[in-house]
Amino acid sequence: MPKDQTEAIVLRTFNVGDQDKIAVFFSRDRGILKGIAKGARKFGNRFGSCLEPSSHINVYFYEKENKDLVTVSNCDLLESFFDIQSHLETAFTLRYFSELIENSLPARSEEDTLFRLLLKILRALKQRKELVFLTAYFELWFLKINGFFPDLKKCKKCRKNIGKTGWLSVKRDGVLCSRCGSTEREKITSEEISVYSWILKNPPASEKKYPFSIEQIQNARKVLKNLIVFHIERRPRFPDDLKKHFNT
Ligand SMILES: [Zn+2]
Repeated sequence: MPKDQTEAIVLRTFNVGDQDKIAVFFSRDRGILKGIAKGARKFGNRFGSCLEPSSHINVYFYEKENKDLVTVSNCDLLESFFDIQSHLETAFTLRYFSELIENSLPARSEEDTLFRLLLKILRALKQRKELVFLTAYFELWFLKINGFFPDLKKCKKCRKNIGKTGWLSVKRDGVLCSRCGSTEREKITSEEISVYSWILKNPPASEKKYPFSIEQIQNARKVLKNLIVFHIERRPRFPDDLKKHFNT
């Protein structure tokens, strides 16, 4: 059994048996990797804090042919994101990002882009950047990297610029202008388009203060959430839903 190694972020872990853990890793060069860490729940085990959610690590493992589950032999902690998990809304949001990554990983060549995105977002969260803004940031780039973010400036039917207001049409993979579209769809305004343009041009932890209100970002997220539900073909556990559930 040859020993292998990769750089990864821990997406989630769950307990198996009396002493072991299974971890789902997002690795930089091979996508999703599931591994069993034997003895990981024993006191003073060799994995230390490597297997906490969102830990950025180097993981060493053995791979058996025809087996989905690798055996984790060891790991080095590169950067911990344990502290930000104590904030409930942040923990919900990271679980949501993990769900999107685990269930709809893009082609192998794009994994590195998504990996770097997640790492940048985690670091921005550590710097206490606004959670709603970072959620929109992740959602937009997640769609973009996967090729799911359409051109929102031109009408899909008549090809004219949509002007101040357009209507999202997920099935047509774009927007319709007011002449061609219907009011039953999700509205897209020039204000939302400027939020998307800003996100696509600036890093998540930019020193520049973003020129939008929380309300404008939440409005811009409506279109992003619609696109996500359409493309991953189900409704993920949006942190917004969990928050509502928690408050009742
Ligand atoms: Zn049109």
